[in-house]
Amino acid sequence: MMLNIPNIKKNKPLAPFTTYKIGGSADLFVEVHTIEELINAAQEAHHNYVPYFLLGCGANILVTDKGFRGLVIRNLANKIAFLDNHRVFAESGAIINDIVNLCCDRGLSGFEHFAGIPSTVGGAMWQNLHFLSPDRQRTMFIEKIALASRIFTEKGQIQTVGVDYFEFDYDSSILQVQKDIVLDVTFQLELKLKEEIQAVVESNLAWRSAKQPPLEEYPSCGSVFKKIKMHDGEIGAGRLIDQAGLKGKRVGGAEVSWKHANFIVNTGNAKAADVLQLIELVREEVQEKLGYTLEPEITVVGER
Ligand SMILES: Cc1cc2nc3c(=O)[nH]c(=O)nc-3n(C[C@H](O)[C@H](O)[C@H](O)COP(=O)(O)OP(=O)(O)OC[C@H]3O[C@@H](n4cnc5c(N)ncnc54)[C@H](O)[C@@H]3O)c2cc1C
Repeated sequence: MMLNIPNIKKNKPLAPFTTYKIGGSADLFVEVHTIEELINAAQEAHHNYVPYFLLGCGANILVTDKGFRGLVIRNLANKIAFLDNHRVFAESGAIINDIVNLCCDRGLSGFEHFAGIPSTVGGAMWQNLHFLSPDRQRTMFIEKIALASRIFTEKGQIQTVGVDYFEFDYDSSILQVQKDIVLDVTFQLELKLKEEIQAVVESNLAWRSAKQPPLEEYPSCGSVFKKIKMHDGEIGAGRLIDQAGLKGKRVGGAEVSWKHANFIVNTGNAKAADVLQLIELVREEVQEKLGYTLEPEITVVGER
């Protein structure tokens, strides 16, 4: 495979670039720092029929033990700029927590709801980033503050699109159906007292540290299964997994977290195969004991 991409590497282990710290190597790997480099890498792969995967923080994926046959493009294009009318522009590799902090300093409200979530802007658009904020009674979605975006379409064109283009839903967007690349996004925020914004940030961070296993100690990819929607409401997958008595259940180095049953954590030396087997086991037991069918929300990347 000869791709005309500067600084391309061969056989690069992917585990360090994921929050799970699991997975094999990519045949080819490149870190891009600008939108031009991002487009060039995707175009080169496309023109040479090399499969490629665009990587953000690696916080919503499980890389298989065999790794990825093709090119992984790690997106580090991360410019952030403040525009008039309380808008902020961010390249798709910008880190959500960096935007949270910058907005907080400027008294701009909107991003504080996502404090503490590991994500790039691109990853956030891919799955319509969301959290029970500000009061745990409502869910705030990134679509509520996204205004417009530049994308690199499957057909190789740069287009500016409005928020409707993304067909956002719970945990989903058009990006999961067609292979557009988000280049940048402009967000509409509003002015608020800095102290009020900071209070939401702190309350969200406190909730996370009380309810979720810390990433530094227990690498994970956040919630593994989607909420179950019913005609009269919804049930969190964590509650069902807990009810089925599966907290602490292990396969190899993978464990259903004691702290949050919808997290499967890497206790140190988990293989992707351990996580996948545990996912299956949890699905089977919840189905058998409680009659609910759980659907994973994480993406498995690489050769099986
Ligand atoms: C501890 C923890 C807590 C979490 N809490 C939450 C939470 O509260 N709410 C929530 O919604 N999620 C949560 N998550 C999941 C995760 O943070 C989000 O899904 C996040 O948006 C993933 O972003 P990423 O940059 O890591 O994307 P990656 O995992 O790197 O990629 C995910 C998908 O997005 C695609 N993608 C990435 N960039 C682009 C782009 N520029 N254009 C098109 N596609 C792109 C990738 O190709 C891939 O298919 C949590 C995860 C962890 C580890």
